[in-house]
Amino acid sequence: MTTPFRYPDGPHQRLHGPRGYASYESYRPWLRDEFAFRCVYCLTREAWGPFTGVYALDHFVAASLRPGRRDRYDNLLYACVSCNLIKGSRRTPDPTAVLLAPGVHVTADGMLHADSPQAARRMELVGLNRPRLREFRELWIRIVQLAAVAEPDLYRRLLSFPDDLPDLQRLRPPGGNTRPAGITASHLARRQAGALPATY
Ligand SMILES: [Zn+2]
Repeated sequence: MTTPFRYPDGPHQRLHGPRGYASYESYRPWLRDEFAFRCVYCLTREAWGPFTGVYALDHFVAASLRPGRRDRYDNLLYACVSCNLIKGSRRTPDPTAVLLAPGVHVTADGMLHADSPQAARRMELVGLNRPRLREFRELWIRIVQLAAVAEPDLYRRLLSFPDDLPDLQRLRPPGGNTRPAGITASHLARRQAGALPATY
């Protein structure tokens, strides 16, 4: 069974490299694809909510601290508005380098655990064990477990990729794309090639 709150096994290597958009909002389709349609901090998925208005483009190094980095793609993360607000403009360890399995893991009661001081600090700064979030995780773990046993179609829908995968091939970033090979590894390209798993 796919577990809904499993963090990546290794540090994230950027897949895409769009450059030159006048507004950082234009990076959104790239970031959705880059971070698999879920918040890099709490792993809340697009499929579990109303989606519109739920996700922010998070500046890893806050725009107020380093204005020159405001629009640089590699400084942007895909995060839910809740985690983005809690993080604010604090300097924190890179979540894509420290929130990693198996050291960081969620138990059936929804609690998140970390076995490294860096990851624990990251969790604390973004409030990853805030009571409402712990409860949210516990509920989803139980829902997914029930669906896995009793409702295979529901289970698949809860853990599938979104239907509206961005077509990055059609986008033309003004400053080009420093990692063009990422297009063929994008979720849409993998779905079209029959290589995208049904759940994740
Ligand atoms: Zn989040």
